[in-house]
Amino acid sequence: MPLFESESLVLRSYDLSEADRIVVFFTRAHGIVRGVAKGAKRLKSRFGSSLEPFSTVNLQYFQKDDRELVSIQHVELADSRFDAAADPDFLRTFAYFADLLTAMLPPHDPSETTFRMAKACISANWHGQDELAAVRLYFELWLLRLGGYLPDWSNCGECGRTLPVSGDVGIWRDLHLICGECAGSRQMATVSAVQRDIFLSIQRLAPIAFVEGARSQTEAVRELSGFLRQIIANVVGRELMAERSFAVNS
Ligand SMILES: [Zn+2]
Repeated sequence: MPLFESESLVLRSYDLSEADRIVVFFTRAHGIVRGVAKGAKRLKSRFGSSLEPFSTVNLQYFQKDDRELVSIQHVELADSRFDAAADPDFLRTFAYFADLLTAMLPPHDPSETTFRMAKACISANWHGQDELAAVRLYFELWLLRLGGYLPDWSNCGECGRTLPVSGDVGIWRDLHLICGECAGSRQMATVSAVQRDIFLSIQRLAPIAFVEGARSQTEAVRELSGFLRQIIANVVGRELMAERSFAVNS
C-alpha cells in the first residue's frame, strides 16, 4: 500500500464509529481526499487538534486501490483557524467554501491553482460581513472559472459582439449577457458596469487586494454573488445549504 503525503486543508469531519472519524481534506497534490482517522475521538488521540476544520496540515495517508476512503496515518498542524472558527460568520463562510469544494471537485483530482486560491481565502484575516461577502464572491467566481463554468461577459452571448464598457447590459436565463440589439423588447435583469468591472477585477487580483478594493461596492458584490450562485446551483444540481442562509441574512 503506497504512502501519500501532501499539504492539505481540513474541510470537515464527522463521526464514523465510537472512536473513529471520517475527515475530508482538500490536498494540494491529490485534490479532495476522504479518510478514516482511527481513534480520533479518543481523549488522547494521536491527531490532537490537527483535524479541526480549516486548519492547514501536512497529511500522510495510505490508499488501497479499491477503496474510496484512505487510511490517515499522520497529520501535522501547520496553521490553525481556531480563532476564525469560533466566529459564526467566519464559520458559515468557510463551511460554504468546504461545501462548494466537495460539491464541485471530483475526488482524487488535483488542482494546484484551486488549492492555492482556497488556501489564500481561508488563511487571510477578514474583518466583518462586507469583507466576508467579498471573499465569498471571489471564491465563487474563481471556482466557476477554474471548473470552466464561468460565462464570458465581454461579448454578447447571442451575436458575439463586444459589449460596451459602460452602462447596464441585459442578463439572459443562462446568465450570458445580451447586447441591446439582441435584447430587443425582451424583459430581463441587468448587470451594471460596476458589476462587470468587479467580475473582471476578481480575475486579475489576489483575494486581499480585491476585498480591499470592493469595500465601497457592497451592494454590487452581493448582487453579483446572486448571479454566480444561480450558475453554481445549475452545476451542482442543487442549492447549497450555506447559500440559503446567506440569502436570508445578507
Ligand atoms: Zn448581441
